[in-house]
Amino acid sequence: MTHVFHRNPATALNCAVRGQGITLLDAQGRTYIDASGGAAVSCLGHGHPDVIAAIKTQLDQLEYAHSSFFTNQPCEDLADFLVANAPGDLSKVYFLSGGSEAIEASLKLARQYFLERGEPQRSCFIARRQSYHGNTLGALAIGGNAARREPFLPLLTPAHHVSPCYAYRDQRADETEEQYAGRLADELEQKIQEIGPGRVAAFVAETVVGSTAGALPPVRTYFQRIREVCDRYGVLLILDEVMSGMGRTGYRFAYEEDGIAPDILAIAKGLGGGYQPIGAMLASQRIYDVIVNGTGYFQHGHTYMAHATACAAALAVQRIIDRDRLLANVRERGEQLRARLREVFASHPNVGDVRGRGLFVAVELVQDRSSKDPLDPTLKTHARMKRKALENGLMTYPMGGTIDGIRGDHILLAPPFICTSADIDEIVERLDKTVRQVLPVA
Ligand code: PLP
Repeated sequence: MTHVFHRNPATALNCAVRGQGITLLDAQGRTYIDASGGAAVSCLGHGHPDVIAAIKTQLDQLEYAHSSFFTNQPCEDLADFLVANAPGDLSKVYFLSGGSEAIEASLKLARQYFLERGEPQRSCFIARRQSYHGNTLGALAIGGNAARREPFLPLLTPAHHVSPCYAYRDQRADETEEQYAGRLADELEQKIQEIGPGRVAAFVAETVVGSTAGALPPVRTYFQRIREVCDRYGVLLILDEVMSGMGRTGYRFAYEEDGIAPDILAIAKGLGGGYQPIGAMLASQRIYDVIVNGTGYFQHGHTYMAHATACAAALAVQRIIDRDRLLANVRERGEQLRARLREVFASHPNVGDVRGRGLFVAVELVQDRSSKDPLDPTLKTHARMKRKALENGLMTYPMGGTIDGIRGDHILLAPPFICTSADIDEIVERLDKTVRQVLPVA
């Protein structure tokens, strides 16, 4: 009998005891290829000796010093590193312990920015349906996944939602990508006007939607059109790259591919690669200056922010990504992964779409390829996929509710950046076997 309050007490979990490269080992001696990096976290795989050495070195010097008394060298160096690499004018980094904290800080910073600019009426946030921004109440409030929000609705502050950029389902046959992007930008503009232009503080979006919609990339000009609308109405653009950032898409900042920059950015997961819990909010100089020249103080904070050991681990992870030229590998292996998945599932009637960027890839499952009708949600195909894949020694991150929080299934893959070509082939082989076991072709 366990005394741990596990996240799903109905599911008995094996005990993970070791990690090596892209593989995890459990107490029964079974091995698993970590093809999802847990939840798109383990970008360097497991047991990386250089990250472990950096953590040990830091621990020998200083494990932690509270951020209201001191700064520390790892957080200074990590901030320098991130800012030097971030396109746009993101120039200040606020370190936290995870993704939800980074989103909470982003929302509060946006609010305080407008207060200090003398626009106290700007308190509304717009996000997208089918987005996920975290499980704390503020992050859940702006999130667009109906099922995750539903039980807590009475506790959530009001938020507004517009359509996601979901080309596979929502781009019309007679519409170009540009027209589709324009239609979505018009919808945002309409929503801003509906709420009242002077009342909207920020638009929040995942650059590439992660767990709730399955590695859903925007069409090429989407964020340019969105940025224009935000600028027209003085609305801040907050990008959530908790899952898609830090190299997952083949670029350190996923928005690099979209030719825009946000005003505020949230990152986590791959920042520390699972070696330490860490997240961060990056803010533009413009926003920072308003606060510093106003009250002089961002009214926020957590005990473990800018944790020295967490920052040292994250800095080591990010430096290794550069040293070993892993972003190029992410792009190449990502192309290979999508190409191989399209090949093996070319005639599988239940595989509707293979999509993603870099090593952030998803397979969307359907009942029928031509109608794109989803599978019966009561079958919980996503959960069966996860279980069967584990039996086949493969960690994947499947989820249901892809379309509207209830209907739809997808399987998310986010393998470590260190994957070789042979690793990708092995992942595809195991996934192919799994999909055919759960959804046999007649
Ligand atoms: N934002 C996105 C896009 C996420 O995928 C997640 C976690 O999955 C979060 C925020 C919340 O991060 P955390 O679970 O570290 O609080």
